[in-house]
Amino acid sequence: HTKHVGRNGYHFFQPSMNTLAQTQLQLLNDLWMALEREEFRLVYQPKFKAPSGPVIGFEALLRWQHPYQGVLSPDVFLPLAEKTGLIVPLGNWVVDEACRQLSEWHKQGHTEWSIAVNLSTLQFEQSALVQTIMDTLKKHDVPPDKLILEVTETTAMSNPDESVRVLTELTASGVKASIDDFGTGYSSLLYLKRLPACELKIDRAFVRELSNEGDDATIVSAIVALAKTLNLKVVAEGVETEAQQAFLTELGCNTLQGYLLGKPVSAESITAQGNKFSLSDSVI
Ligand code: C2E
Ligand code: MG
Ligand code: MG
Ligand code: MG
Repeated sequence: HTKHVGRNGYHFFQPSMNTLAQTQLQLLNDLWMALEREEFRLVYQPKFKAPSGPVIGFEALLRWQHPYQGVLSPDVFLPLAEKTGLIVPLGNWVVDEACRQLSEWHKQGHTEWSIAVNLSTLQFEQSALVQTIMDTLKKHDVPPDKLILEVTETTAMSNPDESVRVLTELTASGVKASIDDFGTGYSSLLYLKRLPACELKIDRAFVRELSNEGDDATIVSAIVALAKTLNLKVVAEGVETEAQQAFLTELGCNTLQGYLLGKPVSAESITAQGNKFSLSDSVI
């Protein structure tokens, strides 16, 4: 309802704005507490060698177990975390937790598995990033080449000179870099060539249209060709149908990820299925 502020009866809140602003404000307030209250957790989505296995590793994806709104996905809270800077401690927690989990799986014998972690723009711009990552790898005794840092094309190209510098430093220590959501940003080919990444992830938007046989088959083919020229592996994300799986494999994608092959699941679920993930050549 409307509040009157001061003698002139100035309407401080419009009822409609009230609700939206309060929801955001409440979420922001909850967000600051969430890290301390340990309400964040990671789910893991498998990455398959095309066309159907074996599993080569997992991508860690953040979830917020909100006290009364249920499980929230990153799209809901990451923009807020990024705007307020909370993404920095939160992002550090993600790297730490993902490395801890990977070291557990390595100890169980799955030493071939890698873990991919998404980095936000602000996190990527932190001067302490390289040191933090090195310290975390050491703490959990994870081989650097089993950690893949996913940086979106947009983040990588927002300050390309700086991206080249940071990724060069990281990859010199053995850590791998992946260019996420490729095709939605604006890449300078000159910088793309200089970025020491190991793979390109084709954005889901192009994969989604694939079975329709239109322009997007051409786009995917072009991205694959570009990647091969630059000596990069190609990952397709968002693979949902067998037609897409077959087509992407035929086009030369090295790695497939998507609901068809495996949804993001808890670490416990992967641990329980561990041998199936490791031993089977065909996991569907
Ligand atoms: P992304 O890194 O491109 O991750 C892929 C997103 O697509 C994930 O959504 C995943 O659950 C979803 N996905 C995977 N396969 C399929 C499929 O077959 N169909 C459909 N419709 N969706 C699929 P999610 O988990 O909601 O994450 C969204 C985005 O949030 C991620 O996009 C990433 O940019 C960001 N994100 C997630 N976790 C983190 C994190 O720990 N740190 C940072 N900075 N960003 C994160
Ligand atoms: Mg990603
Ligand atoms: Mg992506
Ligand atoms: Mg994305």
